[in-house]
Amino acid sequence: MTVKPDFSIFNTLTQLPGISGREQAVRDYLKELLTPVADWVRTDALGNLICFKKGTSDKNLLLCAHMDEVGLLVHFIDESGFLRFITVGGIDPRTLLAQRVRVQTQNGPLLGIIGTKPAHITTEAERGKAVALQDLFIDVGLSAQEVKKQVHVGDFAVLDRPYEEFGNGLICAKAIDNRAGVFIQTEVFKQLQNPFYNVYAVFTVQEEVGVRGATTAAFGIDSDVCLCLDTTGAADIPGIAPQDQIVRLCGGVGISILDARTITPRPLFDALTQMCDKQHIAWQVRIAQRGGNDAAAVHLSKTGVPSCALSLPTRNIHSNVEVCAKQDVQAMIDLTYNCAMQGIVF
Ligand SMILES: [Zn+2]
Repeated sequence: MTVKPDFSIFNTLTQLPGISGREQAVRDYLKELLTPVADWVRTDALGNLICFKKGTSDKNLLLCAHMDEVGLLVHFIDESGFLRFITVGGIDPRTLLAQRVRVQTQNGPLLGIIGTKPAHITTEAERGKAVALQDLFIDVGLSAQEVKKQVHVGDFAVLDRPYEEFGNGLICAKAIDNRAGVFIQTEVFKQLQNPFYNVYAVFTVQEEVGVRGATTAAFGIDSDVCLCLDTTGAADIPGIAPQDQIVRLCGGVGISILDARTITPRPLFDALTQMCDKQHIAWQVRIAQRGGNDAAAVHLSKTGVPSCALSLPTRNIHSNVEVCAKQDVQAMIDLTYNCAMQGIVF
């Protein structure tokens, strides 16, 4: 049985601001959406949202998807009113030039434009060089005096990009990492009727700065198995050798064997791929020598939890033009749903 996703919810999720440590808008939205379909919902001290649904067995499945996104933090305002910033989570400065942001002030968001010294006045030595973070600034279009009133050091700035569908079933937006995982977990949780497992659907905080939320969430739950729902970089782009592409767009759900932080137990990996084959769900192997996700924290919690990252192939990851494919989203929903309903035999 497949679950038809409501992509308008994905659209809404990508547009909410939720930089690491400032996930409240995403959490509030999910709480309202999922409280009516959950047995109970609670928020822990760090801000993780935990939604529970009782199953027909005594086994516990931990699903986790991080709510936070990478973004910027204003750390200095100069005498002309331009904002200087640091990144929260890993962002390549090359992707920030000439982009738009929404500065999250106490009185609401302000549009900001990221600028640098224009080509016309760069020196010979500067020309053609990659731009460094300290050479970039945010212009909110206000006088220095107005900026001082409205913007404060410590305000966060989210990348700004509308959700757009394009090409053959592709989606471009900011924060696909990891509102895609959040969306998949939401759609699955909504559809669960008498699942095999007691399902703890945890929407975690602060993954992008070192899997912090998942560490405390996993501590509080006795899990028999964990599926971590996240994105992974699809390097199926020009200039990358096939063996270095990690996963490919439209190749199905990525089932992780290894990343820098977690190795999936062989029996769990086999059970997941067999489930895909039985249910005719497209899947591909994910091997990522760099990076990690919430599974890194969960599999080392308590006395250890068998864990696997289900990974959505995403191009241009950690930029504001992240791209994923609807058919991969569907495959990941189908696998997660069937695992929760039927149980994973491993
Ligand atoms: Zn992620």
